[in-house]
Amino acid sequence: KAGWTQRADLAALATALGAQNIRWVGGAVRDTLLGHPVKDIDAATPLRPEQVMEACKTAGIRTVPTGIDHGTITALLDGGPVEVTTLRHDVSTDGRRATVAFAQDWREDAARRDFTINALYVDPQTLEIFDYFGGLEDLEARRVRFIGDPHQRIREDHLRILRYYRFQARFGADLDEAAEEACAELAPTMKGLSRERVAMELMAILALPDPAPTIARMRARGVLPVILPEAGTSQIAALQRLIETEARFEAEGRALVRLAALIPAVKGVAESVAARLRLSRKDRDCLACLAGARHADGDAPKALAYSHGGTCAAGRLLLIGADPRPLEDWEIPDLPLKGGEIVQRGLSGADVSRMLRKVEARWIEEDFPGRERVLGLLEEELSDRTTS
Ligand code: ATP
Ligand code: MG
Repeated sequence: KAGWTQRADLAALATALGAQNIRWVGGAVRDTLLGHPVKDIDAATPLRPEQVMEACKTAGIRTVPTGIDHGTITALLDGGPVEVTTLRHDVSTDGRRATVAFAQDWREDAARRDFTINALYVDPQTLEIFDYFGGLEDLEARRVRFIGDPHQRIREDHLRILRYYRFQARFGADLDEAAEEACAELAPTMKGLSRERVAMELMAILALPDPAPTIARMRARGVLPVILPEAGTSQIAALQRLIETEARFEAEGRALVRLAALIPAVKGVAESVAARLRLSRKDRDCLACLAGARHADGDAPKALAYSHGGTCAAGRLLLIGADPRPLEDWEIPDLPLKGGEIVQRGLSGADVSRMLRKVEARWIEEDFPGRERVLGLLEEELSDRTTS
């Protein structure tokens, strides 16, 4: 029995819908049974979305129709949002999106989920577990097993290939040979998926404690080449080394730094990977900076942190096998000099920012000295200007 199942706000939600009308399902149930911390709680209900909203309103629970078309209402509880989704079954799929219909049957709802360990339901009152496809046994064995035939389930939704590897990397002990073969065979179908969804799954895999063995297997099975053809054997070895370095220095493993390890240090490659994965501008810049790590080993870490941010600078250190900790304790300073002070010294227009940049460059070069030295640097630069 996990603490969250006893939460008063969840009990109130169950009472609002009628306890027989709601069951906790998916990741929260799975992670609780594994003794892992629970992130977010999902619920399933035979009630229609409008009925869920109405029942919550009557009970004074605020809701947001976050995905009303496919049956999801988010209940805003004190302990956090809970997604309540109407029981569904797939009507048709094209591998990218499914057309679903609302259903009344819990087992039908379970059957359209991906893996047996993700299809466990819990009664909110009795805490009885409903296990329609042997999920408990698989959980015990740390087995990530598709519900039904892996080929068919992947043809319904090609993203399940990456979900398989993600859960495999997280929980899997034994490999499911049938699933691995289906993933290998159907890997090319992932080309039709939305790049955002692919990127999210890939980054989620890379954010796990040790994704290297899984990434290596994805490559061996021809899955990685479809989404990240840039990653060859030496890049996989670089990822392994990075993860060892992270462990050695007790550094936080970051998905973006690990992605950088998987990219050959060739100009322009990071940018094209970032564009393909639709990374944000900030992540793209950071990835490009990280990817440059291996041919700019001598760069001063503090200077890097100042110009590219702490995450990026620490990542570069990790990528070359160095200790990032000194950087993590360092707060990035502001140049202790204002443009106005340069104006007071008689400069104007573009000369002001030019002077600021000059002083800043020397300030960085001298390892960020205090204001007194900065004023001294300004004097030197000003007299250089008048003498030249
Ligand atoms: P996580 O801890 O990563 O959030 P999760 O199991 O909660 O794990 P979600 O992606 O949040 O995963 O999905 C919630 C549930 O919805 C899953 O447990 C699974 O039952 C179902 N589900 C999600 N995506 C799919 C999919 N592509 N195909 C089938 N079922 C899915
Ligand atoms: Mg979840």
